[in-house]
Amino acid sequence: MNIFSGLEKIVEEKYPLGQDTWFGLGGAADFLICPQTIDQLADVVKRCSENGIDTHILGFGSNLLIGDKGVKGAVIKLAGNDFARISFSSETLVAGAGADLNKIVLDCVRKGLGGLEILAGIPGSIGGAVRMNAGGNFGDFGSAVESVTLMDNEGNIFEKVKPELSFDYRSTNITAKYILDAKIKLYQADTTQLLKTVKEVWIYKKNTQPLNTKNAGCVFKNPRGMSAGAMINRTGLKGMKIGGAVVSEKHANFITAQENCKSSDVIKLIEKIQKAVKEKFDVELELELQIW
Ligand SMILES: Cc1cc2nc3c(=O)[nH]c(=O)nc-3n(C[C@H](O)[C@H](O)[C@H](O)COP(=O)(O)OP(=O)(O)OC[C@H]3O[C@@H](n4cnc5c(N)ncnc54)[C@H](O)[C@@H]3O)c2cc1C
Repeated sequence: MNIFSGLEKIVEEKYPLGQDTWFGLGGAADFLICPQTIDQLADVVKRCSENGIDTHILGFGSNLLIGDKGVKGAVIKLAGNDFARISFSSETLVAGAGADLNKIVLDCVRKGLGGLEILAGIPGSIGGAVRMNAGGNFGDFGSAVESVTLMDNEGNIFEKVKPELSFDYRSTNITAKYILDAKIKLYQADTTQLLKTVKEVWIYKKNTQPLNTKNAGCVFKNPRGMSAGAMINRTGLKGMKIGGAVVSEKHANFITAQENCKSSDVIKLIEKIQKAVKEKFDVELELELQIW
């Protein structure tokens, strides 16, 4: 019997997953499943769990590298409208996990609501921003999040609220696999001032990051009190190329994928960087990039 019988419209087999990531690299997923509603997601999650099928949840693929051999099991993408809903109520915003962070930042600015403007220019979905606690020099997403709605492997839905919910550098204490939405606390602010901040953040990004390339943002987390980019720079690896993967000249913590790049090129370059930084600084660089 087909595990996904009745769900044919939302299930695709042998789906080339790289095309759904910013790197654009890697092999196929056994299944790509795009539930349209929360009930459908619960159904999919239960079927996978009962049949021992591994699942991964995909946001906008801006922090992901898919291995050349692809992904075993099911990749679930919250692409339906149900997951992209956003609703403002006074100074609170509830945003579905499939909503676009950048669009929301601009919606907030237009409404004169502050809190997310510092995240301008960070690509990705709300689900990805929660899971990764997306952020940078100016602040992080977790600081604005009050609670999240989650789903476990049996399809049960529950909330996690601060202070039980906590965020750290590029991480959170959420253990449930599926993030469904986030409640975000904003504050009244002057639109002109917010717009000025957004522009400043964008200019900073444009000047410091290789934005018009295939990449997935910073590859490594900054070790406490140190800059991974500066350390890589000092190992002399800026511009180093393996196959089609290159350490960006503009920001040494970015790897860009040039023509004919394979995921294995990126992985080899990652290992080379880790070895060089370990040798020079005795520091183990930890990945921020998620590799499937
Ligand atoms: C040009 C560029 C610049 C970037 N700049 C920054 C930056 O300044 N700061 C920063 O923090 N990041 C940055 N990033 C990385 C990336 O934008 C963030 O990590 C982003 O939050 C990832 O969101 P996503 O939806 O693309 O997640 P994906 O890349 O699709 O997934 C990332 C992780 O989140 C999980 N995930 C996604 N959705 C859900 C969900 N609904 N439920 C549970 N888990 C989920 C995935 O399983 C995976 O583990 C940059 C990336 C690029 C390409």
